[in-house]
Amino acid sequence: MHEMSIVMSILDMAADRARAADARVINAIEIEVGGLAGVELEPLRFCFQVARRDIAPEAELIVHEIPGRGRCAGCGSEAAMDFAWAVCPDCGEVGLEVLQGRELRVRSLSVD
Ligand SMILES: [Zn+2]
Repeated sequence: MHEMSIVMSILDMAADRARAADARVINAIEIEVGGLAGVELEPLRFCFQVARRDIAPEAELIVHEIPGRGRCAGCGSEAAMDFAWAVCPDCGEVGLEVLQGRELRVRSLSVD
């Protein structure tokens, strides 16, 4: 499953950082997920509940959603984007340049 491999890499990254900080317990992992990153949040949370057992059983997953936003190459307008091939609301050009929304990264960890 796509989401499971994402969760595993998030947990690996968190475990590495926790080790580097001499932490014993990971309390929370904050991640940023862009609306255009192609990640479904419900399966992501579900996979996290399953996968954390071995690596970070105490960890809570905190998801910050980054809304998709793009700029039109034709008229320069900026608009919200729900999917990668959004249409410019001002001039109708297809395919906005993505300004934000492809994020998929660990923002911070809470450890003890
Ligand atoms: Zn436009």
